[in-house]
Amino acid sequence: MALHQHDHTAAELKEYYQAVISWVETIFMKYRKEMKGLKWGIFYNKYHHIDFSPQKLEAQITELMKDEYDEISSKKGIYEYVLSGDERCLSIRAFKDSEKRAVYERQKGICPKCGKHFEISEMEADHITPYSKGGHTTLENCQMLCRDCNRRKSAV
Ligand SMILES: [Zn+2]
Repeated sequence: MALHQHDHTAAELKEYYQAVISWVETIFMKYRKEMKGLKWGIFYNKYHHIDFSPQKLEAQITELMKDEYDEISSKKGIYEYVLSGDERCLSIRAFKDSEKRAVYERQKGICPKCGKHFEISEMEADHITPYSKGGHTTLENCQMLCRDCNRRKSAV
């Protein structure tokens, strides 16, 4: 009886893995080495009910794989990002202290949102164009906001 139950479970498991694999093959048009070792079973459980466009996913992945997105610390994270839309999956590099200082000087210590003057230690770096809309971690796309304004922006 115990053996029989074990067989039953193994068959179910096989069926489940096949469902996961066929889902991955359906939504991702191209195989890339970064797909190896990802938690596909978990992605399947979380996202397989969503109706993805394979063309749209492929376009997003092609774009994010480009070298100019060097602030993405983990290219592997691109897959979970296109499924979930959660930027944390990309482990985007934060602005360096030297970059924060340069932007602070450029703004002459003024917060562009509220127009008040702050010390650099009272300010936080912010992506002007968010990552999800194609903004990079560059000086041009960096602004220093006071903590209150940054919190208000994040809350929107
Ligand atoms: Zn402010």
